[in-house]
Amino acid sequence: MTLAFAYVRHPVRVVFGAGVVATLASELERLGAERVLLLSTPGRAGEREAVASALGGRLAGRFDAARTHVPDEIVRDAMVLVGSAKPGALLTLGGGSAIGLGKALAVETGLPLAAIPTTYSGSEMTSIWGVTGVETKRTGRDPRAAPRLVLYDPELTYGLLPGVSAASGMNAIAHCVEAAYAHDGGPVSRLLAMDGIRRFARALRAIMASPRDPDARAEALAGAHLAGCALEMTSMGLHHKLAHTLGGSFGLPHADTHAALLPWVMEYNAPAAREAMAGIAAALGSDDAVAGMIALARTLRTPSLADLGFTAEMIPRAAALACATSYPNPRTVDEPGVRWTLERALAGAESAG
Ligand code: NAD
Repeated sequence: MTLAFAYVRHPVRVVFGAGVVATLASELERLGAERVLLLSTPGRAGEREAVASALGGRLAGRFDAARTHVPDEIVRDAMVLVGSAKPGALLTLGGGSAIGLGKALAVETGLPLAAIPTTYSGSEMTSIWGVTGVETKRTGRDPRAAPRLVLYDPELTYGLLPGVSAASGMNAIAHCVEAAYAHDGGPVSRLLAMDGIRRFARALRAIMASPRDPDARAEALAGAHLAGCALEMTSMGLHHKLAHTLGGSFGLPHADTHAALLPWVMEYNAPAAREAMAGIAAALGSDDAVAGMIALARTLRTPSLADLGFTAEMIPRAAALACATSYPNPRTVDEPGVRWTLERALAGAESAG
């Protein structure tokens, strides 16, 4: 087949570097945002205070109750504050949970969104939004959800615990892996994906040994940026479907579940994605993509599905749910295939030969 590809880029200003959060006021000025609503998850009060005081008179209000998967009721609570504080823009400080709330509000209000990401979720580079109701999760892509300003300050990530860094990093690597074999990928998304994997493979190992290593932290955050860009440009496959199924229907934690699944979904897909796997192997510095990912998971001591509370009895239902709808994937997805993948992920990297 001759080369053909298409992608959309949303307008965004990205500023990356240690200490860039100090330029927040001038960056918001450039965005034309006079008063902003600061959104975050609870915790890390010192960081929130520092950003709030950097905002000075621009702070229209703050909401620090963002939660993972953006529950409906949290969006409603935050909308009340939007109504009373009347901000001209939204600013998130934190990982994918804070950014997810910002996106939901941006879609609802049309307000411009700015983000200071502090994990490796990559959500800040995508127009993908999602809101969780009692039994359903509504998701979609909307240009209004794509942040218009992103400030990456690696210094804000120095306190991210090694285990959280590893899981969040594997979440980002999973974006790269699925972008590498996506049916709608192209030379740009593949370039981003490969460089993202390369940076993470180096940086995460260094972070395990020395969590405050400035170079490793910068490399990892840059990897997250690349992974988020690759995610925005492609459609995700079985890995993301399974991660969302296990998170949504079995309550497993988001980033850890990505980490627990990744080597095994790769093993399942490998026979149908040889070219992508060769690129991934090279980016990991290994002869084989799956073996390289298992070795990385071992070094990072990422959990197995069993460690996360998933059991063998849950496999049939999870496999049925993962096969209930169709989505693009290099290898045909069927229940026996998904069961096989989940059995491998249940035992995890330590048990792999
Ligand atoms: P998160 O935002 O919940 O953060 C994980 C934990 O790390 C939290 O306890 C948080 O308080 C802590 N934390 C965050 N930054 C820290 C820092 N710098 N130092 C110390 N602790 C810190 O989780 P996440 O993994 O970043 O994001 C998960 C969510 O993002 C999920 O809801 C997922 O669906 C969504 N997501 C969306 C996209 C997208 O494109 N829409 C992409 C990836 C993930």
